[in-house]
Amino acid sequence: MIDLKKVCRLVETKRCKDHNEKPKAIVKGSSINLTTCCDKFQKELQKVIENDIAKQTEDAIKKMFK
Ligand SMILES: [Zn+2]
Repeated sequence: MIDLKKVCRLVETKRCKDHNEKPKAIVKGSSINLTTCCDKFQKELQKVIENDIAKQTEDAIKKMFK
């Protein structure tokens, strides 16, 4: 139902403001394995992931009730 690969692609378009580094996001089972240059960026991306999963869940629920 939730496309984690899509979430990974979204995450990998981001760049750390402090180090100008791109993150690595890999789907591992039902979760995402995130590799970043620093903790601050990691936390930022975790929010991005959470938001996108929440959004995809919402969309899936909306589709079910159509
Ligand atoms: Zn960084």
